[in-house]
Amino acid sequence: MAKEELECSFCGRKKPETSLLIAGLDAHICDRCIEQAHGIVIEESKQSGNSDLSAELMLKKPKEIKGFLDGYIIGQDYTKRVMAVAVYNHYKRLLQPTTEDDIEIQKSNIIMVGQTGTGKTLMAKTIAKMLNVPLAIVDATVLTEAGYVGEDVESILTRLLQAADYNLEKAQRGIVFIDEIDKIARKGDNPSITRDVSGEGVQQALLKLLEGTVVNVPPKGGRKHPDQKFIEVDTENILFIAGGAFDGIERVITKRMNMQAIGYSAMKTDSVDKDNILQYITPRDLKDFGLIPEIIGRLPVLTHMDPLDAKTLRAILTEPKNAIIKQYKKLFEMDDVDFTITDGALDYIVDKAIEYKLGARGLRSLCEEILTEAMFDLPSSDETKLNITKSYAENRLNKSTLKKLKAVS
Ligand code: ADP
Repeated sequence: MAKEELECSFCGRKKPETSLLIAGLDAHICDRCIEQAHGIVIEESKQSGNSDLSAELMLKKPKEIKGFLDGYIIGQDYTKRVMAVAVYNHYKRLLQPTTEDDIEIQKSNIIMVGQTGTGKTLMAKTIAKMLNVPLAIVDATVLTEAGYVGEDVESILTRLLQAADYNLEKAQRGIVFIDEIDKIARKGDNPSITRDVSGEGVQQALLKLLEGTVVNVPPKGGRKHPDQKFIEVDTENILFIAGGAFDGIERVITKRMNMQAIGYSAMKTDSVDKDNILQYITPRDLKDFGLIPEIIGRLPVLTHMDPLDAKTLRAILTEPKNAIIKQYKKLFEMDDVDFTITDGALDYIVDKAIEYKLGARGLRSLCEEILTEAMFDLPSSDETKLNITKSYAENRLNKSTLKKLKAVS
C-alpha cells in the first residue's frame, strides 16, 4: 500500500484526516477509533465488575443493591433493605472527599442476628461479590486475647490481606464477616459458654478494629514475634459485618417486652408474632445477652434473619442464580445427561429438611444423598435422561443412614 493511501481500518478515514494512525500487522487504527474503543472497554469492564471501585460503587443505589441480593438470597427482605442502605452509606462515606464542614460520617458496621443456616454468610458473600471487594470470613470462637492460645484478633486482617492477594489498598476497603459473635458474649450472663478465657477480653480487642485504627498485621498470620515484618493496615474503611445465632436471646427479648407491657398497659402483647420473636430485637437485648455496650455501639446497624419456612426452603432449592438444583443440572449436562426433578420430589426434600431440622444447609446434603448413586453410575452408561421422582428420592434416602444427615446440622 502506498503511503498516501493509508487509512483507518475501522472508520476508513484517510491518514491526513486523522491526528494519529497506528499500524498493526496488516491493519491501521486512528486516534478517534482508539478513543471509542477505550470507552467500550471501560463500559464492558464496569458491567463485568472489573472496574475501579469508585466508578462501580456510585452506580449502585440501595434499590439496586437489594435487587442484586434478590438474585441470590430468598426472602430476608428486611435484612436486605437494611444491608443495602448500610452498604450504600458505608461506601458513600468512603468515596466522600474531605469537606470543610465538621460532619464526619460514622461507620455503619452491621450485626445480623439469626439462626444458623438462614443466610447470614451468604448475605456477606453476595455483597462482597457485588462490590468486587475482598471478603474475609472469620469465626469469633477462635479469637482470643493476646497471650492466650488461639488466634490474635489481628489474624482477621491477615485473612483479609490474603483475600486481597496482599493488595493493601484493596484490603483496606474490603469486608470482614465475623461469624459466631455471640460466642464471645460475657460468660456471666450466658451459662452455655464454657470457655474460660473471658469473651469480654476478645470483645475489647475487637473494639479497636471496628472503630478504625492502624494495626500492625503479620502478613503470614501466626503469633507476633519481634523480628517479624508487619504490614500496617488501616481499618477505617473496612466494613465489618458480624453474625450470630444468639441462642436463647428470644427469652431475653420476650422478658423485656413483657416488662414493657406491664409498664405500658396499652401495649397489646397478643399482636406479637411468637414464631418470629427475633424481629423485635433491640441493642439492649444484645447487651443483656452479654455483648459489651462499646461493641454494640460500634455495630450500629442491627438486623435479624427470619426463620426459613417450607415455602422459602422450596424456593432456595430452585430459584437463586446458583440454586442447588441448577448446579446439579449443570453437572449432569457435562455428561450429556438431561436432569429433571419432579415437584413431588422437591417437596419431599423440603419436608425432610424440616423434619430433621436441617434448615437450608441440609438441602444440599439431602440432594447429595439422593443423587450420589446416579452421579456415580451415569457417566459410564449410555443413559441420557435422569428424572428424579418422589419415590426415587424416598428410596435413596431410606437406603442411606439419615443419622448421618442429622450430624450435618
Ligand atoms: P448462616 O451464615 O446464617 O449460618 P449460610 O449463609 O451459611 O447461613 O447458609 C447456608 C447455606 O444455606 C448457604 O450456602 C445457602 O446455600 C443456603 N441458604 C440459607 N439461607 C438462604 C436464603 N435465604 N436464600 C438462599 N439460600 C440460602
